[in-house]
Amino acid sequence: MRYLALPLIRAAYKPLLVFFLFATLSLSFCQISYCFSLQGDSEHYKRLRYKMVDKQIAARGIDDESVLGAMRDVPRHLFVPKKKRGSAYGDFPLPIGYGQTISQPYIVALMTELLKPEKNDVALEVGTGSGYQAAVLSQIVKKVYTMEIVPPLGKAAEKRLKEVSYKNIEVKVGDGYYGWEEHAPFDCIIVTAASDHIPPPLIKQLKKGGKMAIPVGGPFQVQSLMFIEKSEKGEIKMKNILPVRFVPLRRKWK
Ligand code: SAH
Repeated sequence: MRYLALPLIRAAYKPLLVFFLFATLSLSFCQISYCFSLQGDSEHYKRLRYKMVDKQIAARGIDDESVLGAMRDVPRHLFVPKKKRGSAYGDFPLPIGYGQTISQPYIVALMTELLKPEKNDVALEVGTGSGYQAAVLSQIVKKVYTMEIVPPLGKAAEKRLKEVSYKNIEVKVGDGYYGWEEHAPFDCIIVTAASDHIPPPLIKQLKKGGKMAIPVGGPFQVQSLMFIEKSEKGEIKMKNILPVRFVPLRRKWK
């Protein structure tokens, strides 16, 4: 019996070692990918995102492929507070802290499409909030400059954008009413907080042939999403797009 067991153990020793090594490695691989799926994107969220684009965005008439592609790519759930991730792909805005909100996905897509962004464009966003709108725009254009008046929101968005690897976005904490002179003029300007008038510095910083989307109206009124175009001669044309509800463009924080 002893004589029989010894060669058997010898023969089985190597395959068993390989088996245990393989089992240990695949277990660690599963653990690592599970961690990644929690921190980052996952098939589950990707499915929700594709459904969001079909049902809420394309179904309402947005047909610019670059906008639809950006909305499919940017992991919106990473831009909302952790406990709200389950609702990140719903057809509504969500609170992001400090009394501010991340806009409804359809409004983000609509405002982006209005700007007819192109790959060599330089864009300015006023109202960084979570950084989501900047991330969507950054998928299409060359560079996005974005300004936020609430310091902790601006800093958190900057950190988040770095973690999710958006390299063509620069965040600045400050009053976006005055724009960002140093990088002007801009091909497109998007304002994601409502003002009772269109800030003149933003009109000035818009390039000839440039486009702007901005909600106009008071905080307790129905506001109007306006589309503004500056002609090659520098003339301003305005168009009323639809009634919207945005948080107010503030002139100071606290
Ligand atoms: N675009 C954001 C949501 C915007 S909510 C996103 O994708 O998440 C509007 C944001 O505008 C808020 O974060 C608010 O603090 C900011 N804001 C208000 N007034 C501002 C101003 N004067 N300059 C810059 N940001 C401003």
